[in-house]
Amino acid sequence: MKDTHKHQGLRNQLVNIIVKKGIKDKNVLKAISAVPRHLFMDSGFVDFAYQDKAFPIAADQTISQPYTVAFQTELLEVKPNDSILEIGTGSGYQTAVLLEMGAKVYTIERQKELFKKTKLFLPKLNYKPKKIIFGDGYKGLPENAPFNGIIVTAGAPFVPKPLLAQLKVGGRLVIPIGDELQTMTLFVRTSEKDFEKHELGDFKFVPMLKERN
Ligand code: SAH
Repeated sequence: MKDTHKHQGLRNQLVNIIVKKGIKDKNVLKAISAVPRHLFMDSGFVDFAYQDKAFPIAADQTISQPYTVAFQTELLEVKPNDSILEIGTGSGYQTAVLLEMGAKVYTIERQKELFKKTKLFLPKLNYKPKKIIFGDGYKGLPENAPFNGIIVTAGAPFVPKPLLAQLKVGGRLVIPIGDELQTMTLFVRTSEKDFEKHELGDFKFVPMLKERN
């Protein structure tokens, strides 16, 4: 597990690409430039790690495109010590980006194989989420709610009510909603009862599935 100057150089180029695509949050860019994405991918794909593309990981899932990770993270407006819930741990790459930003991260994955792999892998890079859970993201994590931010990294057919309920007032939920194609949607909780909704363009994610397996 090596991270070299060459990898750092490739990461700097990747950061330039996502800046050109419109990402401005300096802390997000710093995190993307710090996380060794090549180590989150199966060895065969290492040469592709710093292209701005999604790639297959285990269990027919994908590691999200860096631009998409940056876009969703920017929308979350993460501050150090914020408590953030992630739905869809996958490779752990997005989790690592959130940890680099100083967030306390709770993350849920429904595929046993990925859950086991990523739970072992993240601490090897010294990334320590508060909790990595094998479970169903539709239910959120009531025992650690409320959260400053919730990020869903799979395409959801609708917005799960428990996730809205588990936001702090002022908290932000970033969730791609749709079947074939998803609309990136931001919900901001403005009071106990009120939510603002913003739609922010089309993306393509693997589907958010029910239950665990
Ligand atoms: N954040 C990941 C993206 C992985 S793709 C990364 O950076 O690599 C989306 C992930 O969501 C997949 O691993 C998939 O298994 C998971 N997922 C799908 N439905 C889910 C659900 N209901 N609850 C939790 N995770 C789910």
